Amino acid sequence: MPRALILLGAPGAGKGTVAGLLVTRAGFTHLSTGDEIRREMADSSSALGRRCRPYMDRGHFVPDDIALQIADSFLARRPPGKPVLLDGFPRNVAQVPLMDDLLQRHVLDCCGVFWLNAPEADLVARLTGRLLCPSCKLLTHASQLDPSRRDDCPACGAGLVSRPDDQPALIAERMRSYREQTGPMVDLFRDRGQLCELPADETPSRLVDMILARMVA
Ligand code: ADP
Repeated sequence: MPRALILLGAPGAGKGTVAGLLVTRAGFTHLSTGDEIRREMADSSSALGRRCRPYMDRGHFVPDDIALQIADSFLARRPPGKPVLLDGFPRNVAQVPLMDDLLQRHVLDCCGVFWLNAPEADLVARLTGRLLCPSCKLLTHASQLDPSRRDDCPACGAGLVSRPDDQPALIAERMRSYREQTGPMVDLFRDRGQLCELPADETPSRLVDMILARMVA
């Protein structure tokens, strides 16, 4: 049975970077519900995308049934046989039983819940100034760029952009949602004996080493 790994962490904890390495180093199929929601919203013909917009524009979570639909349709389309990485689903306590059913339906075996843990102040600093290259997808930070060329991607030269939800007011709102909704889910997975806590200030590559070591153990 292919395996599923759950990755948890506050906004800015580095889930996206760790997920990218798990894809390239270990062949995971990556389900990012956030990316899938943004993809649906960019598609003007998507009714699901239109339902997400009012919540996303306020920095709120989308309702559980929409998140489930997004995850379900992604898993139905995935390549068979590969391990799957769930990033962004489940996101609150109510979504945990939805995830249990989802994994069973798609015949996936949950092999661990990995939580990237970091102090909130560090995460806010990371998110403020985060820049994305729309062309080569490089994720960088204003503090790492040459001040005279702050708008250009250092890898491919395309114009860098901020993610719309990386504005300070929305960052605060996302952190609040995380504290209130995702925090209790961490406790639930700990109680179930499935939680593996990882220090988010380790390098992404070390974090991936730790995850893969736990998976074979
Ligand atoms: P971040 O974790 O940095 O906030 P994501 O890309 O994971 O970014 O998600 C962006 C937004 O998409 C979230 O703030 C939330 O509004 C929405 N979202 C993603 N996954 C879910 C989910 N499982 N349930 C509800 N909303 C979700």
